Amino acid sequence: MDFRFTPEEEAFQKEVREFLDKEVTKEVIHEHKSGESLGPHSRALLRKMGEADLLASAWPKEYGGRGLSPVTRFILSEEMSYHAAPYPLTFVEVAGPGIRHYGTEEQKKEFLGRIANGELEFATAYTEPNAGSDVAALKVRAVDSGDKFIINGQKVFNSHAHCADYMWLAVRTDLTVSKHKGISLFILDMKTPGITIRPMYTFAGVRTNEVFFDDVEIPKSCLVGELNHGWDYMMGALNYERGGTVGDLQAGFDELLKYVAEAKREGKLYCDEDWLSEELAQLATELRIGGWLIYRLAYMQDTEKPVTYEASLGKLYASEIRLHLYNVAIQSIGLHGQLRDWSKYVPMDTSMLTEFLDSPRWCIVAGTSEIQRNIMATRGLKLPTK
Ligand SMILES: Cc1cc2nc3c(=O)[nH]c(=O)nc-3n(C[C@H](O)[C@H](O)[C@H](O)COP(=O)(O)OP(=O)(O)OC[C@H]3O[C@@H](n4cnc5c(N)ncnc54)[C@H](O)[C@@H]3O)c2cc1C
Repeated sequence: MDFRFTPEEEAFQKEVREFLDKEVTKEVIHEHKSGESLGPHSRALLRKMGEADLLASAWPKEYGGRGLSPVTRFILSEEMSYHAAPYPLTFVEVAGPGIRHYGTEEQKKEFLGRIANGELEFATAYTEPNAGSDVAALKVRAVDSGDKFIINGQKVFNSHAHCADYMWLAVRTDLTVSKHKGISLFILDMKTPGITIRPMYTFAGVRTNEVFFDDVEIPKSCLVGELNHGWDYMMGALNYERGGTVGDLQAGFDELLKYVAEAKREGKLYCDEDWLSEELAQLATELRIGGWLIYRLAYMQDTEKPVTYEASLGKLYASEIRLHLYNVAIQSIGLHGQLRDWSKYVPMDTSMLTEFLDSPRWCIVAGTSEIQRNIMATRGLKLPTK
């Protein structure tokens, strides 16, 4: 097996790296790490990336992409997350591929070019108060009313809803069929009257939202694909979302490694502790494997090989590395590890405590680790479903 990038992919990696080294300013990083999602600096960076033709590298040229190999999509996400840039998960990874695969010709014309230009942000709205892991139980209702649907109900944990232009929204359109079969997907303009957004914060300070729909009118032209086929589109898009990256974990590891190899406590280097060098070697191994799992998924998705459990495997493994990495980081730097970003005594650019507190989030978003294990057990190992 040849694990090397092609010369074209290497050139793309170099181009993205050089761009991000220059353009990811302290303001962008601060905004990104503030937990408030996309602000003006992040938006400006994404537009610049769009102008430089970097965002939709793997999309065909007719959709505003660059027509490069599928792997460049993952090179992009790895580099962006390594540089702490606002990785455009919700619009390049979820709604983007979703519209490309399932949208009407009009939707492709209307959205794909603007997504590739870095002009648009989408929020993904699947989860509801009683429909999380069992997301097919969702109840937000869209009722047919002539040339439009009328939407009522509530979503929860709706990240980016407060700064998004559009919502990639799953709703119930048929109550008479089994729960997986009565779901449809819509693209909702966030300026539509009747939408109320309330903030919710995780304990690491990351913003997500509750969103309420009160007689929200949506034209029928905003339906994605076929009515009542939303479940298939959601599952397809989730495989893209779960693809993820270990880029930011590699950055956290590199920062920790540099610090413990140079800094001393009571005259002794931190890394002189045997337990720590063993943990660091183990983490380096996990990061290498995590990256390969995700590249394999990229290859499968974009050569149209069926993805069954591979996205879950990649997501689960990356979530476990995150827990491990920041647990080791907190332990290795002692009491300094308990300082938040705003303390002048934080020993590294990144507060390891903030990252540590934020780690469990990644075991929940886009399906919990338990659900990823269930998928691997049933679809990967073919164990019977209970
Ligand atoms: C910070 C954050 C951001 C999010 N952003 C978004 C977003 O933008 N859009 C969106 O749609 N959703 C979003 N989510 C929602 C996320 O996908 C759900 O929280 C997740 O799927 C779990 O659903 P739940 O919270 O209802 O927990 P539940 O489904 O109630 O699960 C509770 C616990 O039970 C376990 N459990 C449930 N069912 C099973 C089972 N069958 N087998 C084994 N264990 C099980 C779970 O693993 C979990 O530990 C976000 C969540 C968070 C925390």
